[in-house]
Amino acid sequence: MNRIYLDNAATTFVSNEVLNEMLPYFTNIYGNPSSPHSFGREANAALDTAREKIATAIGAKPNEIYFTSSATESNNWALLGVAEYYQNSDKKHIITSQIEHPSILETCKYLESKGYKITYLPVDSDGLVSIAELLHNLNNDTLMVSVMAANNEIGTIQNLKAIAQTVKERGVIFHTDATQAIGAVNINVKEMGIDMLTLSGHKINGPKGIGALYIANNININPILHGGHQERELRAGTVNVPGAVGLGKACEIACRDIIINSQKLRRMRDYFVDKVMENIPYVKLNGHKFQRLPNSISLSFGMVEAEALMMMLDLEGIAVSVGSSCSTGSVEPSNVLKAIKLSPELAAGTIRITIPKSITKEDIDYVVEKLEVIVKKLRSMSPLTKSSIGEFDNV
Ligand code: PMP
Repeated sequence: MNRIYLDNAATTFVSNEVLNEMLPYFTNIYGNPSSPHSFGREANAALDTAREKIATAIGAKPNEIYFTSSATESNNWALLGVAEYYQNSDKKHIITSQIEHPSILETCKYLESKGYKITYLPVDSDGLVSIAELLHNLNNDTLMVSVMAANNEIGTIQNLKAIAQTVKERGVIFHTDATQAIGAVNINVKEMGIDMLTLSGHKINGPKGIGALYIANNININPILHGGHQERELRAGTVNVPGAVGLGKACEIACRDIIINSQKLRRMRDYFVDKVMENIPYVKLNGHKFQRLPNSISLSFGMVEAEALMMMLDLEGIAVSVGSSCSTGSVEPSNVLKAIKLSPELAAGTIRITIPKSITKEDIDYVVEKLEVIVKKLRSMSPLTKSSIGEFDNV
């Protein structure tokens, strides 16, 4: 069966270039980077090189890059580490957005349980945070602001520089989760005024289980992992050396190829969306029309149950993901789809397609053909009617 993977926001394969760079660090160069002997020094030199590559990719200094196990850990650390450092100050207010990844939202909820006041900024129907709303909520108690660079469900890219500068003007710490943005959005932390930034290996054709947190040298933060003296005493635990090498290489390639990849992905993405819109009625495209990740397509199908659509596509070898999470038998719309005020009916029919660089027009034609057949079938069984699902552009 022809298998087509369209879930690249969930994870990506490790590219050959990255794999080849990593391989020696599993076998020949296996020293502990903290050891002072030559084996350790070799491993440590590899970490230095990886740190340099990551720093170059985002315009930071190498000694501002800290390796972690994942973007989840980086996000937890950014929020918890700063909160703990300033625990005895009066600053007990944190601002984030309603469309953040759970690793931000759940950490904020935890901090709420510890007495912090959290503001969850709303977004408009395209998924953009409003600068006016941000300004309105910044106050003397605000400790930090965390707003993601690009959204993992609808692909919307925030006005990051404007957000960072608004926050900086008020002397508040600014963190961004750039997990989905690296390789798609040009980011220079110094020019933009970003104090902390999260990234992850496996979203950019690097390995799983490795992430990084950029922390500007003037930012005060406590560790959340205690133990050894690794990562300038701020993140205990032996660094995953092959992972770090892979993350460094993946960042280097993502930035090297950003223009060519984005152009190709955008062309294919638009071809995909146009083809769906031409062939299938009652479909809505979510996210900002232009300010959107080049590989990202969030589609809401009226009168369709997304879980069923995803499973029937899977039977045809096509992997997509569902834009709402299913809990206790009822499908609860995701925080992102709720925040852009998608109706519950449409949210329940939303799938996320994130295309790879290697996709061809033939792949897209094949997928849209299958989509058309499956959507027709599901609609013939749906209790929903055209009049109950609102207005569509492509009817
Ligand atoms: N932030 C965003 C925006 C993400 O998309 C993801 C992964 N879905 C994460 C954080 C968590 O990444 P990791 O798997 O590296 O923990």
